[in-house]
Amino acid sequence: MRITAIQVGELSLPLAHPFKTALRTVDRLEDIVVRVVGENGLEGYGEAPPTAVITGDTKGSILCAIQDFIAPAIVGMDLMELDVVMETLNSCMVHNTTPKAAVDMALYDLWAKTQGKPLYQLLGNARTSFETDLTISVNPVEEMVKDSLEAVARGFSTLKIKVGKDGAADVRRIAAIREAVGPSIKLRVDANQGWNAEQSVAIIKTMEDKGLDIELVEQPVPALDIAGLKYVTGQVDTPILADEAVFSPTDAANLIAIHAADYINIKLMKTGGIWNALKICEMAKRYGVKCMIGCMLESQVSVAAAAHLGASQEVVTMADLDGPSLCATEPFPGGPVFDGPTISMTEDPGVGVRFSAQWK
Ligand code: MG
Repeated sequence: MRITAIQVGELSLPLAHPFKTALRTVDRLEDIVVRVVGENGLEGYGEAPPTAVITGDTKGSILCAIQDFIAPAIVGMDLMELDVVMETLNSCMVHNTTPKAAVDMALYDLWAKTQGKPLYQLLGNARTSFETDLTISVNPVEEMVKDSLEAVARGFSTLKIKVGKDGAADVRRIAAIREAVGPSIKLRVDANQGWNAEQSVAIIKTMEDKGLDIELVEQPVPALDIAGLKYVTGQVDTPILADEAVFSPTDAANLIAIHAADYINIKLMKTGGIWNALKICEMAKRYGVKCMIGCMLESQVSVAAAAHLGASQEVVTMADLDGPSLCATEPFPGGPVFDGPTISMTEDPGVGVRFSAQWK
């Protein structure tokens, strides 16, 4: 089944509230979308969020990568030789994980549609539904408490709290949120590289001493500071989740080899898509490392593909797939159903999301 075309388009969606982390503030989602067309007339879709502060990928670089490098390398190949196509996608240029992820998920979508099956069933079929957390942006403490209570009222039982600008203030934020939401709500803390190793240990130990019952702390130190990450992991009782420190399967292998973190956050935009994400899952399974499936600021198109990966793998025990919940609208029919905290898989073939764009 030959791949006959790879086209790009644009997607612009308003967010329900501005999204704020230690690295950036965003109020609108502006992504590149991808359509892969097969000779059987079926189509697969993907999405590429330009998250320059994390991946280095911009709108311009995503368009250039797909149009000038990826499409010329892939168009004409036989999609049923999936591994050969994926090897080519990954070797046609280095880096550029976001455009690779968008094309990878579109290819998997088309591959599964061609077999008439939902993608997650072909990849492993571990579960038919699961729960995601909801992200609480970093803001003045009263606003974060209000946002947390609203999230709990919407049915979310796990909150991911963004912190990372001032350690003492961060502890006050978490303490106020814990007091407001009570003991039954799980709290994850994401510092987005905002602390150094010494600060991380001091802040996390303070949270432990105060009994704030934090499920995990995500990426406390800068991405490249693997020694610092390992130091923090060794010094505190709270599990440490690596996010920005792990892009590729090689990153995951290096981190697992020295136990630099307890858990790994897999995001398709970091791995370059599902094919590499599956390699990380396989490695994590072998070494007993739990994984989270996460997303950038993305719409339902690409989060649906991440949901298929999460639903397919036993080792993915945590989900941070709140992109669609952060958007003001969910304009696309089909595929996994995002209903508050619950993501339910459907029998739609492929990834399942149907949408149109102005394809170039
Ligand atoms: Mg993170």
